[in-house]
Amino acid sequence: TEPRILSAEKRGEDVDATLRPQSLDEFVGQAAARANLKIFIEAAKGRGEALDHVLFVGPPGLGKTTLAQIMARELGVNFRSTSGPVIAKAGDLAALLTNLEERDVLFIDEIHRLSPAVEEILYPAMEDYQLDLIIGEGPAARSVKIDLAKFTLVAATTRLGLLTNPLRDRFGIPVRLNFYTVEELELIVRRGARILGLPMGDDGAVEIARRSRGTPRIAGRLLRRVRDFATVAGAAIVDRKIADEALSRLEVDALGLDQLDRRYLSMIAMNFGGGPVGIETIAAGLSEPRDAIEDIIEPYLIQQGFIQRTPRGRVLTANAWKHLGLEAPKDVAQ
Ligand code: ADP
Repeated sequence: TEPRILSAEKRGEDVDATLRPQSLDEFVGQAAARANLKIFIEAAKGRGEALDHVLFVGPPGLGKTTLAQIMARELGVNFRSTSGPVIAKAGDLAALLTNLEERDVLFIDEIHRLSPAVEEILYPAMEDYQLDLIIGEGPAARSVKIDLAKFTLVAATTRLGLLTNPLRDRFGIPVRLNFYTVEELELIVRRGARILGLPMGDDGAVEIARRSRGTPRIAGRLLRRVRDFATVAGAAIVDRKIADEALSRLEVDALGLDQLDRRYLSMIAMNFGGGPVGIETIAAGLSEPRDAIEDIIEPYLIQQGFIQRTPRGRVLTANAWKHLGLEAPKDVAQ
């Protein structure tokens, strides 16, 4: 599949951490989550104890990794980071865990992709700070318990439903992250422009914010592309016109939807009369993996009121028909 400018998935340039906020106060948006974390962090610090395990849930690019890093910094402890698919064997996780110091933060991205064998190791580690390992094979096998430092697991997942119940239950602090408002994204775009040394007009910042799909990672990516465009066009300042030209060229429309979003909507409209249509059928029709559709495309389209998820499948709303410039059938949902 072709790369999407709007895909909220990580790419090389995101590894460049220039745009990452460094403290809770610098972190824009997610006010409720931020206020709660602040209290939990202060309490844990005051008691000199490890913070309870934290689970961040939300679509890609909303700041889960960033918040995990900020938490470690505010707790004044080490930050260790890995991800579900990278931990192949129980021994890999055991190695990570035994290297942790007291109160360290271990961040596991995409925790829903841990293998069951690795998950088994994680339970006693989270609960009792103990490692239960089987050493050897056959009749000579024996189990050994190793004490671990009292650490904090900070984990991230795109959908809560992807986690097994026993794993979900072991997080004392579940935190859901929501899409950002245009006003919040505007602040993020301005801050990014300042960091990149890009003169940004008020209307330019609003335009980029409106078209960022509610997602800071996308705002950062669009900002970089607009900067390229402004440089080549010799623009002194990014105003609405420059931003609009750059984003239209990238086929990001006025509401921030990209080609794939529109392909999704128009397929349901043209091939299925607006639905209901099942997710597997949509995945086959778009030649995109079902997970990517459910994690990346649909959450924003649902939040924006373009589709509804019903027991019989996805249904376009009147909004979606209007956005596609098509006449809606009479009985369509509002
Ligand atoms: P996730 O882990 O949820 O996929 P990240 O934490 O990697 O998302 O954030 C993606 C990018 O968006 C990062 O490069 C970060 O700079 C930026 N970002 C995320 N949240 C914010 C925020 N609240 N304010 C400013 N920038 C943010």
